[in-house]
Amino acid sequence: MARKIELIIIHCSDSPNGRTLFTGTPGEHGFVTPVQEIDRWHAQRGFKRQPQWRAKQNPDLTSIGYHFVIYTRGAVATGRHVDEVGAHCQGYNAASIGICLIGCDKFTRAQWDSLRDWLCGLAKTLEQQKPNPPKRFNNPTPAEARAIFAQLGVRVLGHRQLNPDKTCPNFNVYTWLESGMQPPVEQIYLDPIEGEIA
Ligand SMILES: [Zn+2]
Repeated sequence: MARKIELIIIHCSDSPNGRTLFTGTPGEHGFVTPVQEIDRWHAQRGFKRQPQWRAKQNPDLTSIGYHFVIYTRGAVATGRHVDEVGAHCQGYNAASIGICLIGCDKFTRAQWDSLRDWLCGLAKTLEQQKPNPPKRFNNPTPAEARAIFAQLGVRVLGHRQLNPDKTCPNFNVYTWLESGMQPPVEQIYLDPIEGEIA
C-alpha cells in the first residue's frame, strides 16, 4: 500500500438485515451484485472514481465510495483500490480505508468472522510494510492486531464516531475491539438470508 493509512472506518449499508443486495431482473440486464448496487447508490449521490483508478481495479464500478464490502455470506468484495482515496466519510477520506457490511444492525456470523479476519489481515499487511518487520506467517490474533494498529498510529472506528449525525455502522466498534472482535450476541443475524437468486 502506497497511501498513508491513519483510519479504518467501518460502515453498514443501512439496508434490511440479512438481505443480499441483488436486484434487477434476470435475463434483462443480468444480475446485479451488491457492489454494483452500492455503486448505483453512490453514482446517484454524485460520487465519481477517477479513470486511472478504474483502469487499475474494478473498471465497471464508476462511483462506489468504499474500498471493501462484506456480503451476507461473508465474502469480502473490493470496491475502490486501497491506494485510491475513498468517498465514505466526509473530511476523513484522504488517509482512511472504508469497509461496509451489508445490513443495518444485525450481521451474519460469516460477516462478523470476515470483518475480524479482514481486519487482522490488514494489520499484518500494514505491519509488514514497516522497515525490518517481525517475521509473521499467520495473521495476528485480534489482540495482536489491535496492538499493531496502536503501534502504527492507526485507529479503527465506526462511521458514527467521526460524524455524530450518523448511527452507522449501528454497533459499538470500540467494545467490539475490546472484546477481541467478538460479535455482540444481540447483533448476530440468525434468520435465513434473503434476496438470493437460486
Ligand atoms: Zn457509514
